[in-house]
Amino acid sequence: MTLRLTRSLAEILPGSASQRILWTILAIVWGGYAAHARDLSSAAMNDVSAALDRLRGNGAALRSFLVEMPKGGDLHNHLSGAVYAESALAWARAEGWCFDVASKAALPPPCDAASKPPLVDALRSTQAYRDAINAWSMRDVITAQVSGHDQFFNSFFRFSDVTGNNIGAALAEVVERAASQNVLYLELMISPLMGEARDLGEQIGWKDDPDAMLVALDNKGFGDLVKRAAASVGAVVDDKDRRLSCGDAAHRRRGCDVVVRFLAQVYRNVDRAKLFSQTALAARLASLEGLVVGLNLVAAEDDEITLGNYSDQMRIVGDIGRRHPKARISLHAGELTMGLVPPKDLTFHIREAVEIAGAKRIGHGVDIGFERDAKELMGRMARDGILVEINLTSNAQILGVEGPDHPFPLYRRVGVPTALSTDDEGVSRIDLTHEYQRAARAYDLSYRDLKQLSRNSLTYAFLPGESLWRDPGAARPVSACAGGQLGATAPSRDCSRFMAGSEKARLQWELEVRFARFESKWGRREGKPANNTALASPPLSSSKRERSARRVR
Ligand SMILES: [Zn+2]
Repeated sequence: MTLRLTRSLAEILPGSASQRILWTILAIVWGGYAAHARDLSSAAMNDVSAALDRLRGNGAALRSFLVEMPKGGDLHNHLSGAVYAESALAWARAEGWCFDVASKAALPPPCDAASKPPLVDALRSTQAYRDAINAWSMRDVITAQVSGHDQFFNSFFRFSDVTGNNIGAALAEVVERAASQNVLYLELMISPLMGEARDLGEQIGWKDDPDAMLVALDNKGFGDLVKRAAASVGAVVDDKDRRLSCGDAAHRRRGCDVVVRFLAQVYRNVDRAKLFSQTALAARLASLEGLVVGLNLVAAEDDEITLGNYSDQMRIVGDIGRRHPKARISLHAGELTMGLVPPKDLTFHIREAVEIAGAKRIGHGVDIGFERDAKELMGRMARDGILVEINLTSNAQILGVEGPDHPFPLYRRVGVPTALSTDDEGVSRIDLTHEYQRAARAYDLSYRDLKQLSRNSLTYAFLPGESLWRDPGAARPVSACAGGQLGATAPSRDCSRFMAGSEKARLQWELEVRFARFESKWGRREGKPANNTALASPPLSSSKRERSARRVR
């Protein structure tokens, strides 16, 4: 690439032959610098790549490598689906929930002995408890009896009232799990007071006039709902912090150091008025520039209402998004496959999410091969940096799409940025490391590939601030931070100044610090001397969170 670029520069530059030679020399120097900047730790990288290749054939060995590997963030993670059934069942027991024997759903008291006994009684036997875990997750799904799709979506109706009552505990569980896998960031989907937003939508009804609908919402006390919803998100984080002793330096748990932001999730299988009011709430929350950074539409994309209203939904999101430019939009789109829906419904969802709704990221994107003019669409996504959140296990379980049938390698080949995510790690009985392992083996990814996926998960996060990367695909840093070895040497004064203004760049730097540490360690294990660059401290001491992040490592 560098050689090609150098030659083409020399060919197009003006002047005499000697001037062209001078230009060529300058281009070679520049090209060499660029190559260096793209691969700032090549020796360590080679050692770690060798380690990965040696471990690849054994699942246990590969797991031990990948669990330690710094994994940036998880950008597609529904908090209620991230909880393992065992936790939800324990909360339901402790809180006196009942158990609907027929549907295996948790129901609030009062219980009755025949059809909905206390959950604690209903699940007294080992077998009943096992069956409940299976009903509340994808464990041991017998697909001859129920499809993966139905089991997945039905499971939520069984436990979601319980997890909804224990969001702080759920968040504590999820950040602890993330920290244990060297994950730095979670962008979690939650539904703050979305039920109330739907009620308001129902009250005002659908009008084909967004201005009038927004006025009608405001007249119904929408501003107060936004405030209460924002407060509810803050309370969830406070609850998590309390559970993990985050304010107590001596006892704080490592989950405290995982940076958390939220996407407000809009339940999409509703009429247009309710979709509008929820989207407006989500956008207003994200515009506050607090814990909520964006929005997403959720629930089965193949549902009758969503299929019927899809284009209207995209127009509503696009319109509200233009009114709220600080609200970043990620959309589930193309979580479909042949047979699940009529063929025509496979041809436009991703395009409309990008072009009409203004999505900056796409969740799943599994049906891209069925989209009209898919090549042009992917070219646009590559050019505009629209990332696809790849959920390999979820797609295998719900859609039966996996291995060579999954579009992940296609997106990579045409330059659409991708990142690995879990979708619903509790329901799917996985974690983010599992997804890295699945990707590494199914698609024969190198260490460099995995590192790029990890970096992408922060580069395309909706965290505020400029990215550390000028060219994320080539891992070329912004000029303020060029020249050093990212993460392994202390940042320059210019770089520190740049990072002081960008929360995203500070977290990206922290990821590079962890990569340098990880590569030094795994390079040593390959029998080579440790990378002799001193591992630098992270750049800024601006917050308690960052100071403690360093301690915990
Ligand atoms: Zn999802």
